[in-house]
Amino acid sequence: MSDAYLELVNSGVTKTLAKKLGLPRPAHLRRTDPAAVDTPLIPGRAMVIGEGPDADAIARTLLGWDLDVHRNVPDGRIGAVVVVLTDLTRPEQASQRVLALGSVLRSLAPGGRVVTVSRAADPGDEPAVAAVRTGVDGLLRSIAKELRAGATGNGIVLGDQISPDAPSAVGALRFLLSARSAFVDGQFVHVNTADGVAPADWTRPLQGRVAVVTGAARGIGAEIARVLHRDGAQVLGVDVPAAGESLATVMNQVGGIALQLDITSGDAAARIIERATSRYGRIDIVVHNAGITRDKLLANMKPDHWDSVVAVNVEAQLRMNGAFLAADGLSPDGLRLVSLASTSGIAGNRGQTNYGFSKAAVIGMTRALAPRLADGAGTANAVAPGFIETEMTARIPALTRQVARRLNSLQQGGQPVDVAETIAFLASPQAGGINGEVLRVCGQNLVGQ
Ligand code: NAD
Repeated sequence: MSDAYLELVNSGVTKTLAKKLGLPRPAHLRRTDPAAVDTPLIPGRAMVIGEGPDADAIARTLLGWDLDVHRNVPDGRIGAVVVVLTDLTRPEQASQRVLALGSVLRSLAPGGRVVTVSRAADPGDEPAVAAVRTGVDGLLRSIAKELRAGATGNGIVLGDQISPDAPSAVGALRFLLSARSAFVDGQFVHVNTADGVAPADWTRPLQGRVAVVTGAARGIGAEIARVLHRDGAQVLGVDVPAAGESLATVMNQVGGIALQLDITSGDAAARIIERATSRYGRIDIVVHNAGITRDKLLANMKPDHWDSVVAVNVEAQLRMNGAFLAADGLSPDGLRLVSLASTSGIAGNRGQTNYGFSKAAVIGMTRALAPRLADGAGTANAVAPGFIETEMTARIPALTRQVARRLNSLQQGGQPVDVAETIAFLASPQAGGINGEVLRVCGQNLVGQ
């Protein structure tokens, strides 16, 4: 699905016109190009703002990735600024680092990155400590709204005692700096534990893993299958029999197995387990992507509109998770569950009471599963996409669609690959310390938190 406006404001005469008229000018985002080898992680120099052991550790990590790392303002284009705030104990201490960031923002390259690293606030904290830690929320979300030209701002929030060298802190930093996080903006990734391992090869972190993707015949699900395969995983794709032909096409592209079934059927999980284990002997990753909309104002809602959405979007996931968790020896290295939520489940959406309910329910389910999966048993996380260019959103009336696309800091819809990249990160070995997270892939949509 293409966005003609984005093309217009980035080419020739219409680009100049849009600039003169002060119209929104969404930029082409920096995305991973599998054909381009040696694409740099960031589009320029790296700068680390902050002092102390955490800032030193982060600078060492960046040097380990062969980046040109500076602790003071460098000459030339800056590809990323990492602002380390973990040691602050009072709001007044933030000033120097924040203003240092402000002084270099004009040198940030298109598609550049700002990443804050801070500590989670806890009700047991001293009020001044909680104040500065929580202050980072408002700071980062405001910075992200000020950035232009496809640059993004995101934060990593470390739990108590978690070092910036923890695998998931390093993994999150790499993800947020890279082109993989193109449509993740104004968000925080919480690292709760020191679990996880750095992959032997950052370009194939899912090597040797077996992944199940539901709704893999088209849209976001097809792209998830492709990205997981690109990252090294073997994929079993599931979709309804009516989508069998497209599912076969996608699975042929990724050398995976196609399984035609309706996830609402009672034996869905048993059939998935049987096919995956007879072929690959295990399941490491389950991506609950299949989902439907049946939009109606509540006043016009028929029982079938409500029930079908709840059945596919959440009841099927609950039932299948029960079976996956009960299956002995299914996931020797821990099960990685990633569910598709939606910003409609966070902020609500007119005409989507059924969908909003189901997607908020997915968030509740994910948070409750997380502690049950901890201690080596795996992780449960959710991704909440905003407006993504798919057949689902192509059905939205043209004018509403144009408006919906612009209502985020990046002023455009995301692509299915943006959601897929985030899911691949949450399913990766380096994300083992991220559990119970709901990560939005919405370009910092202006609705909701
Ligand atoms: P889509 O309609 O293009 O694809 C969904 C796929 O799921 C289809 O192939 C469909 O056949 C399959 N499916 C539906 N019911 C099924 C069932 N009972 N059993 C097996 N497969 C089934 O949708 P999409 O836009 O690619 O969305 C994918 C997911 O992302 C959904 O969960 C959706 O709610 C969520 N999401 C999408 C957006 C967006 O902007 N497109 C935004 C937020 C969340």
